[in-house]
Amino acid sequence: MSIEAFDVEKVRKDFPILQQTVNGAPLVYLDNAATTQKPNAVIDAISHYYRHDNSNVHRGAHTLADRATAAFEGARQKVASFINAQTTDQVIWTRGTTEAINLVAASWGRQQLKQGDRILVSAMEHHSNIVPWQMVAQACGATVEAIPVDSSGTIDLKAYTELLDEHVRLVAVGHVSNALGSVNPVIEITRLAHEAGALVLVDGAQAVGHWPVDVQSLGCDFYVFSAHKLFGPTGVGVLYGKRDLLEAMPPYQGGGEMIESVSFKGTTYNKLPYKFEAGTPDIAGVIGLGAAVDYLNAMDRAGAARHEQALLEYAQKKAQGVSGLRVIGTASHKASVLSFVLDGVHPADLGTLMDQQGIAVRTGNHCAQPIMDQYGIPGTVRASFSFYNTFEEVDRLFAALEKAKQFLM
Ligand code: PLP
Repeated sequence: MSIEAFDVEKVRKDFPILQQTVNGAPLVYLDNAATTQKPNAVIDAISHYYRHDNSNVHRGAHTLADRATAAFEGARQKVASFINAQTTDQVIWTRGTTEAINLVAASWGRQQLKQGDRILVSAMEHHSNIVPWQMVAQACGATVEAIPVDSSGTIDLKAYTELLDEHVRLVAVGHVSNALGSVNPVIEITRLAHEAGALVLVDGAQAVGHWPVDVQSLGCDFYVFSAHKLFGPTGVGVLYGKRDLLEAMPPYQGGGEMIESVSFKGTTYNKLPYKFEAGTPDIAGVIGLGAAVDYLNAMDRAGAARHEQALLEYAQKKAQGVSGLRVIGTASHKASVLSFVLDGVHPADLGTLMDQQGIAVRTGNHCAQPIMDQYGIPGTVRASFSFYNTFEEVDRLFAALEKAKQFLM
């Protein structure tokens, strides 16, 4: 069976923002690890909601409230089947990956952690998957320790195994590193953690936009991600958790929606998922995420993933030909992220000169300061590719880089 080529030009037409010039040149958007662009389907779903259905959810006794609630809860079903959650009420809406991790840290962590307990996070985690654990560890007398990462940006599984003992209560690890692109062996990491009696939270922020994720086959206890890195809107994220864990966890915030009944004698809490969803949620954002899921389900995701890998390989080959360029993150299994430094040039200066040529890349420590410290660098230039990027755009990236080099060196 022949594999049909992925039709990138057709896909690009779905993303209006890509059809513009920036600083006099056609936009080359290579900052997809920071946030992805939104297809018309998502923009239209949000606009339709505000134009026709805007109402608060769940409590209303009128048609608009019913429509808003149906769309809102319909999106939950879409997301549940998108990640293959066992049941829809294991999908909890949050503001994003960051809030989802903070929710688990504050709820599960404060209930469960005690003096002497240990939490392991990889050395390449985003700050969002370090700091919430440090905060709860400090409050409970637990410690947070780093799982070593080698110079290629690969988790040292032997060192990880040696760190595991009966005091490790949780392992929190990224599915894909935003700074390096490394794809971590989360199935193996989870299996080993479970053997040692620890739970596992996987930060899927950088994975969900690249390939289908199946939380049941990963086996992890919690999986978190942000809608805006999945072609959906900002302000919405997902916490998936195993049901028995979520049932046993106390609420994260108090307020409307998360209660069953309130009195001054005592308050009882709502069932899942509402127990964790205090206050009016980002209804339009959730509906937009549902539209993003529909969009992805309707596209050739295997073709998209192959296209992204081809872009990465092409870019990595081109990078080899640039004198003074060092790729940061050379793991054998990588998502489409090319992080690099150029001898004698500050990443921020390079970023500015690239922007002047219409190329959007990110520069800095990418909220992953510990791994930058390990490499002994303040930050990198990061080009992160999505399925709507083209080989011509990779050529433009490297042409712009050469031009910037001439200016800076
Ligand atoms: N984790 C990883 C791996 C990320 O790349 C990011 C964002 O860049 C986050 C967590 C935080 O996501 P958000 O800011 O959407 O909460």
